[in-house]
This record gives sequence, structure tokens and C-alpha cells, in this order.
Amino acid sequence: MANHYHNSGKTDRLRSETSELALYGGKPVRERLLPYGRHSVTPEDIQAVVDVLQGDWLTTGPRIAEFEETVAECVGARYAVAFSSGTAALHAAVFAADLGPGDEAITSPLTFAATANCVLYQGATLVFADIEGDTLTLDPDQVNACLTQKTRAILPVDYAGHPAELDALLELAERHGLIVIEDACHALGAIYKGRRVGSISHMTAYSFHPVKHITTGEGGMITTNNAHLAERLRRFRTHGIDYTPSERANSPWYYQMIDLGFNYRITDIGCALGTSQLQRLSTNLACRREIVRRYNDAFTNLDAVIAPTERADVESAWHIYPIQVDAYYLTTDRAEIFRALRAENIGVNVHYIPVHLHPYYQKRFGYRGGEYPVAEKIYEQLITLPIFSGMSEQDVEDVIKAVNKVMGYYAY
Ligand SMILES: *Cc1c(COP(=O)(O)O)cnc(C)c1O
Repeated sequence: MANHYHNSGKTDRLRSETSELALYGGKPVRERLLPYGRHSVTPEDIQAVVDVLQGDWLTTGPRIAEFEETVAECVGARYAVAFSSGTAALHAAVFAADLGPGDEAITSPLTFAATANCVLYQGATLVFADIEGDTLTLDPDQVNACLTQKTRAILPVDYAGHPAELDALLELAERHGLIVIEDACHALGAIYKGRRVGSISHMTAYSFHPVKHITTGEGGMITTNNAHLAERLRRFRTHGIDYTPSERANSPWYYQMIDLGFNYRITDIGCALGTSQLQRLSTNLACRREIVRRYNDAFTNLDAVIAPTERADVESAWHIYPIQVDAYYLTTDRAEIFRALRAENIGVNVHYIPVHLHPYYQKRFGYRGGEYPVAEKIYEQLITLPIFSGMSEQDVEDVIKAVNKVMGYYAY
């Protein structure tokens, strides 16, 4: 066991201020559970949805193009194609990139399963590369080491809202003729070296699930500057069907199924909500930034808490605030800290169990753990604290109080 010499003494003070943990029957910091993320819906949002319900188009109507144009403008991309989910959007991107059996695509193990699954949907081969220890995004050197003659795509993940190292990845892509599909489901509104995420990679994927920055209920989007990719994405969204206007002038029933697509359409109901929500993106981002500032300030005193990084040349969109728990300064492990925070009614979470460690991936590909040491070690330490634009001052204080209480209790 470690000695006490590394204890700075700050934690002794905290321990004496600590009341009994809710985990052991004490009074929780909050009466009700604070979720880690939550949507916000205003009267204007509700009116926008009601207007659609009273109109002619519940789906495949004008609100879809409107939402696509609003998002494209917001992220500085030429084209945007909306889908029924972020997962559908990622699947479409892998299709549009023309990946299939025999092709390899590289992604991060520290992501939601959908980033990896979408490669398998198209029968392509998935390769993981380890992450960088500070941003927890794909390490370009590791990607470089994974390249083969068959590599066709890289799928970086803007983990927590922090853009991946896009310049280095795009340079690799350029040199080897690869497509970069950026999973920016955490990163709507993020900035990378002065450029807007969504306009940088060949294709960029977003999700509008209610825990994300803005919501359409379920929904997703691909942004791209490439007209050919946009056309393939659009066709894939609706069964691979092409409605050529010239043909239909004479034969209005006429259409052609060109590709094997899906029904991945989003509704006008969802898009009206999304367009309305997008008006508040900058205030949403500013709220998150303020919460991050307060968390960072509060946790500098805690040896056992490693706050998430934001590099100087980016602006994270702060979808989540993942701390790392440094067990060296604690008498317990991450699992107990997690349980103790939940008992205080702080809705902590863990993002993510590395994808290759899921039973499906272990069974199908033979992963056993140990393949991606950086991602695996950091995963063991991760706890996501609540952050969302509707959090009150009191909510933020409760989180800080609970973290102090729990870390104080378990301090070495
Ligand atoms: C949310 C999310 C997805 C999937 O989005 P859905 O809209 O839930 O399908 C994919 N990747 C990441 C990193 C996500 O956070």
C-alpha cells in the first residue's frame, strides 16, 4: 500500500468537515437525483412542434431542409443531411465512404458502441487505435501505426466535446487517400484551431438525442462539403431511392432504387424542435463553459480529482465533464466513489466502457483486455459529473459539495 507522505494535508481539513456519507445512511447532499445530462425545452420549442402537428407534413416536409440548412450554417458546412439518429447518420457516412468487406476503418475504443458498430454494419473491418492521455481522443501516432494497404477510413471521436487532433489525422488521410468521418456527437459548436467542427473533416456526425446539446427527440446529422457524398447520404436515408425530377415529369410514379438503403428519415416534428433548440446553442455552450470553470476551480484543491483537459487551441463543446479519480490519493476505488456519489443523489455516469471490452467484441474478435492500455487505464478512473445547460447554481454547488464530501471521506 502507498504511504501517507504524498498527502498534502488539504484533504484532512475536508474530512473533518465531512458529514456521514449517504452511502452509509447519512443525509444525501440532494433530495432528488440530478441527472448527468438533460434536455431543455422552452415554450417556443413547444409552439414550433405544435405548429407542425397542425400542418400538412409530419415527416418528409419542409422542416427537414430548414433544419439541415440551419445546422449547415451553424457549423460552416456546405451540406447537411439529417437522419433518424446519430447512429443512422454514422451508418450512412460509412456507406457514403463506400466502405465494404475487405476495407479497414480505424476508430477510438473510448466511445459509444455506435461509432464502431457502423463500420461492422457495412461489413468492413474495424481496427481500434489507442487514445492520447490528455484529450482522450484518437492518438495520430497510434493511427499511423495501424495503417495498412486496406485502410480506407479514420473515425475520430471528439470525446466529451473536445475535438480530436484533426490536422494530424487529416494529413494522414491525405497522404494515404483515406476518408475522415468525425464523430462529433459530443461536439456541436466546438472550435478546432479557429475552425468550426463540422466543416473540417470529410464528413462529421452529430446526434440529437435528448442528452446531447440540442435534441429532436431522436435524430442525427452528417455535415460535409462534398456534393457527391451529400447525394449518397440522402439516397441512403430513404431506401437508396432516387427520385429524378426529369423522369418524373412524364411519369410521375417513376423512381429508381439505386443503392441498398434504409428508412433512416427524421420527422418534421423533430426537425422543428431542433431548429428551435439551435437558436439557443451559444447560450447553451456558454452555460456549460461556466459550469466547467466552477468545477475546475473547485477541484484544484482535490488531489484525487483529475479535471478534464482543454487544449489551448480548441474550444470544447463540453457535452460531458469526465473527471479521473486518482486512486493513489484514496482509500478506495472508482466503483465505490461512484456508488457514494450516486447515494448523494448526484447522477454520475461512466463514459465509456472501452468498446473492445464488450462481450460482443470480445467474442467476435478475441479481445481480452490489455490491447489499448491508455484507454483501459483511463476508463478505470473515469466518472462523468452532471453538466447541462439547465443546471441551476444550486445544482452546481450540490455537485461540488458531494464531490468534496465523498473525496474527503475516502482521502488517504
Ligand atoms: C450519442 C452518440 C452516438 C449515437 O447517437 P444516437 O443519436 O443515440 O444514435 C454516437 N456516438 C457518440 C460518441 C455519441 O455520444
